[in-house]
Amino acid sequence: MAVELVQDPAVADLAERTAKFVREIVIPVEERDGGVVRSEDVRVSLQQAAKEAGVFAPHVGERFGGHGLDMRSRAAVFEEAGYSLLGPLAVNIAAPDEGNMHMLELIATEEQKERYLAPLAAGEIRSCFAMTEPAPGAGSDPAALTTTAVEVEDGWRIDGRKWFITGADGAGFAICMARTAGAPGDSGGATMFLVDAGNPGMKMVRHIDTLDESLYGGHIEILFENCVVPPEAVLGEVDEGFRYAQVRLGPARMTHCMRWLGIARRSQDIAVGRAAERRLFGSRLGDLGMAQQMIADNEIDIAAARGLILRACWELDQGRSASQSTSIAKTFTAEAVWRVVDRSLQLCGALGVSGDVLLGRYLREVRPFRIYDGASEVHRWSIARRALRLHEAGDR
Ligand SMILES: Cc1cc2nc3c(=O)[nH]c(=O)nc-3n(C[C@H](O)[C@H](O)[C@H](O)COP(=O)(O)OP(=O)(O)OC[C@H]3O[C@@H](n4cnc5c(N)ncnc54)[C@H](O)[C@@H]3O)c2cc1C
Repeated sequence: MAVELVQDPAVADLAERTAKFVREIVIPVEERDGGVVRSEDVRVSLQQAAKEAGVFAPHVGERFGGHGLDMRSRAAVFEEAGYSLLGPLAVNIAAPDEGNMHMLELIATEEQKERYLAPLAAGEIRSCFAMTEPAPGAGSDPAALTTTAVEVEDGWRIDGRKWFITGADGAGFAICMARTAGAPGDSGGATMFLVDAGNPGMKMVRHIDTLDESLYGGHIEILFENCVVPPEAVLGEVDEGFRYAQVRLGPARMTHCMRWLGIARRSQDIAVGRAAERRLFGSRLGDLGMAQQMIADNEIDIAAARGLILRACWELDQGRSASQSTSIAKTFTAEAVWRVVDRSLQLCGALGVSGDVLLGRYLREVRPFRIYDGASEVHRWSIARRALRLHEAGDR
């Protein structure tokens, strides 16, 4: 468990209480509902229970009701919350709200914090982050951004199409990335805007049918058409959007890793439980060599992912950009979590693909993580380029 690596007793206590809350309150709901929250009533009741257990929104500052956890402390607590698919939503650290809270805390004005961050941290509203566009727009290459925002008399007018915007259905506001200077292909000139739900220029086009289902509020295609926002809707500074995206993305990558590591551990626990009980060919499944190899490889993947996450978090806590270490940790964890869930399912045989355990659901949920927060190929490309740059600079 990550908690063994935590120095601060208060953080260790919070991680243990989060683990207890997830086991006693969240997992029964997860098992009842097949790992997917389908109503506001369930979200609200889980979050109310988390508040009563004192484990709600642990990452935000005390002013917003949290504990102001640094990244290494988040690693311990978020992994425990991630032990159930519903845990992150219950304790209000699910994507994309958690990443948005992190960014708002760092760059929003006082008025924006009161208006957007305070109710978000309290679970009164949800949010979304609208960056990706259908081809030929922004995806792996953010510089391809085509959505525009032009200054008009009463603020800014945003026009463009976004898709795969997680949590947009029912969100109280969107953070929309739009181009305020330059042209698609330029690496600068983007600005972030806070767009309130109900703005007639922000239209939900459709829920995209996807492999995964557990991220609450769906993955939505949104049309911004003549979407006018006031001047105070600008988040941070004009034309600095790509820089702020990095403020959000490095830590958000790591928190995704932490949560999915929780699901990897849960899968391994289910598989080990099965291997200890299932008897075949005159022995326990867990006494057969090839089964042991899968169990051992799962342990290795989980431990290695945790180590890489903590290393990247340590760099982030030093105020470093941690570009290389977050890319390494993200790539390894996304692939390791997939391997662990897949092996766990295999160890359970037909039971593994049945609805009697949630391994099939987990497999569907973790697969897209190799695409969002930077596809594995994009990270490998960046990791290799940095290695070559260091070599050329004589710094290796
Ligand atoms: C479940 C899910 C939730 C998401 N939620 C959000 C959200 O809330 N907000 C948001 O803005 N976006 C969201 N996204 C979008 C996500 O950020 C993009 O899918 C991602 O950035 C990749 O962009 P793309 O889909 O356009 O793929 P493309 O850019 O078209 O890339 C396709 C593939 O090309 C390959 N590739 C790309 N670059 C390289 C390279 N340099 N070298 C070699 N191969 C390469 C990779 O295999 C990649 O998967 C979500 C996506 C998913 C799947």
